[in-house]
Amino acid sequence: MKMMIKRWSSLLWAILLVGALVGCSTRVTAVPGSPTPTSTVSPSLTPTVEPTDIIPPATETPIPTPPPTPTPQMELPQYQISAQLDYAALQVSVVETITIQNPAQQELASLSLAVPPNTSWWPNVFRLQELSWQDGEKITEYSLEGVRLKIPIREAWFPGQSRDLTITYTLSLPEMNKVAGVGPSPFGYSRTKDNNLVKQINLVDWYPFLPPYQEGNGWIIHDPQVYGEYLVYPQADFDVSLQILNGPNDLVVAASSLDRGGEGSHRYQLEEARNFVLSLSPYYQVLETGVNGTQVLGYHFPFYENAGEAAFQTTVDALRLYADLYAPYPQSSLTMVQADFDHGMEYEGLYFLNRSFFNGYNDSPSSMLVAIAAHETAHQWWYGSVANDQALEPWLDEAICTYHEKIYLETYYPEAVAWWWDNRVNVYQPQGVIDRSIYETQSYLDYRDTTYLQGAHFMEDLRDTIGDEAFFSFLKAYAEAYAGKIATGDDFFNLLETYAEVDLRSLVDRYFQDRP
Ligand SMILES: [Zn+2]
Repeated sequence: MKMMIKRWSSLLWAILLVGALVGCSTRVTAVPGSPTPTSTVSPSLTPTVEPTDIIPPATETPIPTPPPTPTPQMELPQYQISAQLDYAALQVSVVETITIQNPAQQELASLSLAVPPNTSWWPNVFRLQELSWQDGEKITEYSLEGVRLKIPIREAWFPGQSRDLTITYTLSLPEMNKVAGVGPSPFGYSRTKDNNLVKQINLVDWYPFLPPYQEGNGWIIHDPQVYGEYLVYPQADFDVSLQILNGPNDLVVAASSLDRGGEGSHRYQLEEARNFVLSLSPYYQVLETGVNGTQVLGYHFPFYENAGEAAFQTTVDALRLYADLYAPYPQSSLTMVQADFDHGMEYEGLYFLNRSFFNGYNDSPSSMLVAIAAHETAHQWWYGSVANDQALEPWLDEAICTYHEKIYLETYYPEAVAWWWDNRVNVYQPQGVIDRSIYETQSYLDYRDTTYLQGAHFMEDLRDTIGDEAFFSFLKAYAEAYAGKIATGDDFFNLLETYAEVDLRSLVDRYFQDRP
């Protein structure tokens, strides 16, 4: 399918070139397709370029019907990432090529990439070695400031036109949980307490990536924040190969998709995905089963058999539940990894579950381990499939996923729901409005209490107000309408209004500050 789009794209540019050369009336227009008009961030724009405006010459002869005109679609960014991990040195050498179509409605003179490993709290982690275009032309004029890599483009870059950009760089992996003032972060490596061996290596948000492009605002790259995710991901296709040097023989590699590599090599493909992550450890115990054609994998450390099994089973059951409620899970595998840091974190096809929940697991569904496994699995629908601007509207995925902890428990373990309200939510006495950006909250706890916990109250009150049938019909419609896109609060409410037969004014006033 992708190859076909590429061919049409070349055909189109050939037509454009011919038109320009002969000065004929061939006109090629880039027409934005039918994006959801309310999306303020629209990486899912599908500009269709239709070379159909060819005025036929005046003649008596019947004109043969031309073959149907293909409608080239906006192609997702294509990543080819070839990574070599020197396990002993904790260094990754990467050659990354991104095929990028101009997503704007006009020529662009530059493009910007987000470089998450280059945040200020990880100095000297990301080292850019070389940037070049597909013809081998080296790019020397660029700026890399924090997480923003800006690359000027000298020749015309027309809407819909593709370019291949190759970035060669190294990563000196940081030690997780070690930067003062920065909360638990999955990126980097951890060590065992007793003998200081490398315990877990996580490659997450580890490569430069193309952010969404928004007409009027350009490339969307927000400032990093020590708590709260700040990245916005358009969908993309990934082809990743990993070679490991100087690693232990029993090293286990978990990833966002299944390993298709041969003996001694690792190769992954993942399409229509927000990102691609890897997690490695020589200590992982692996659980595996199939659910509706999806391979579900669980990776936990030794001595956590009960907790690992519970987290894994929750992932399996939650996957089944959300697929029934909303839409089939779109990827071929889903992986749960026991984090070696005190935080959970979602990525496409793989999530990390807070190590402290494994330690605190009490063999009961009335546990944070089970609740948060259900939460992180829900992110595959609300973050993975339907994305949002995590920095500016974090409630859109976090409030919904927090409430899915309750939806999971009421389905499988109704006796645990009261425990959940008391111990997960109300013990922190959440209050206030939920539509704050990550920059407007005062601390991680303030962020959690409003965005997540008060967010769960909003979802419950919404459900009570419009009724179960409208509530779940709305969520299903929202999952379908914005699959593959980046939804906004406006999208959420515009669609909700068509499902709610009652006035939501007082509900909205209670939970939102900026909603007219
Ligand atoms: Zn979450």
